[in-house]
Amino acid sequence: MILADLFHDISDVFFPPLCISCADVLPDCQDKVFCRECLQNIHYITQCHCPVCGAIFPDSPAGNHLCGSCLDNKPHYTFARAALAYEGIILDAIHQFKYGRNIIHGAALAGLLADFHFPDMDWSTYDVIIPVPLHIRRLRDRGFNQALLLARALGKKHGLDVDFSLLKRRKLTLTQTGLDKKERAINIKGAFFAAHPGRLKEKNIILVDDVFTTGATINECAKTLKKGGANQVAAITLARVL
Ligand SMILES: [Zn+2]
Ligand SMILES: [Zn+2]
Repeated sequence: MILADLFHDISDVFFPPLCISCADVLPDCQDKVFCRECLQNIHYITQCHCPVCGAIFPDSPAGNHLCGSCLDNKPHYTFARAALAYEGIILDAIHQFKYGRNIIHGAALAGLLADFHFPDMDWSTYDVIIPVPLHIRRLRDRGFNQALLLARALGKKHGLDVDFSLLKRRKLTLTQTGLDKKERAINIKGAFFAAHPGRLKEKNIILVDDVFTTGATINECAKTLKKGGANQVAAITLARVL
């Protein structure tokens, strides 16, 4: 046994790993962050879905098919996928991470996202990962961009570069909470700009954010990146409002 392993074992005796949701001791699973019981309450998104926006169709007999919204108004992104439903202990953990600045929760959630298998995602066809940017004022208040932490976990897992300098936010928007899809799109319009358009040319990009609600933010980012020369923009989020 090497010294680092021994130190790890000793520290686990005095400071055993705890489930980040219920704080129960996690027996014999140092790399897990939720206990078995809490894991059963996490809803991974595996149902039939819209191949573009990823909207799910619970118990759909028709399999994957385009949703009405994508048929009416094709988004600027090629497709959007999320790993988890934005509810229950995942919603609580995301709030702890974002607003409680709890980095342990952040690392745990980033690990869940990086380990999730997106069946229709071919990571090798993408050039770079870009996190959805925060406005500089919000970044100063929060101290970190939650999307960047998630993007870094995905970049490490899939061997892709993460570049937060390519897309910037120029508009400090009002909170999107309480707004419907149309109002959100209006609120976010013109909020982003491509900082180095020359570096986006013909690039296939993965946008990363924490939560997909109506897709208005992701769509505005994708529109900006494509206007800046990007070829394709896909979006991966940790969670999705169902
Ligand atoms: Zn638990
Ligand atoms: Zn759709």
